[in-house]
Amino acid sequence: MRINIAIDGPSAAGKSTIAKLLCKELGYVHLDTGAMYRCTALKALRNNIPLDEEEAVCHMLEGTDITLKPEGSVFLDGEDVSKAIREDAVSMAASDVSKLQHVRADLVARQQEMAKAKGFIMDGRDIGTVVLTDAEVKIYMTASAHARALRRLKQNQESGLSVSDLATIEKEIEARDWQDMHREFSPLKKADDAIEVDTSNLTIEETVARIREIAEPFLKLEG
Ligand code: C5P
Repeated sequence: MRINIAIDGPSAAGKSTIAKLLCKELGYVHLDTGAMYRCTALKALRNNIPLDEEEAVCHMLEGTDITLKPEGSVFLDGEDVSKAIREDAVSMAASDVSKLQHVRADLVARQQEMAKAKGFIMDGRDIGTVVLTDAEVKIYMTASAHARALRRLKQNQESGLSVSDLATIEKEIEARDWQDMHREFSPLKKADDAIEVDTSNLTIEETVARIREIAEPFLKLEG
């Protein structure tokens, strides 16, 4: 039996990067749930649907196909939006739509269906607390806001996205964290049985090794 690994934490803590690398090592599949909220936000923005109009956003979502390809690209109704969903304007919009209870219910159901087969590393904000409460391994990944802003700046520069200055990025990250931690439904918080990993002073390799070490006893049980 394969296991599922849940990785939660604030934005730009390194969840996706680490999940991708660990998936390569283990032959697992990465499910980036943030990409699903980002797709929802992008489509709402494109269709001029106000982000706080729950009924309209839910109605839109019902007829929406979001496909996360195993190699990492993201398709929205058949269009490759892997880059478009990473724009800064979409980040805060994703946090806005993620406050809506019925949007969450729709996306959580899709995520649970996808992870049924096991062998997934799923990252997000509510994976250990709501989506996969029975995940064998739960990680809560954090880093200082400054360390996260530096990483996001570098990431945006490398992938050719529009780049704001460091102070603006740090402010945006803090605002989004605050909103994600204080929303009414499924706020970001560490699950009681999650292990916290602070990546502020860890390299990517060190972080992968640390999580692998945490998961190792459960991976050994795989038949
Ligand atoms: O992880 P990422 O930064 O791409 O997520 C974008 C936004 O989607 C987050 O700020 C959060 O508001 C929302 N989200 C969520 N639950 C998840 C994943 C993401 O509410 N499981």
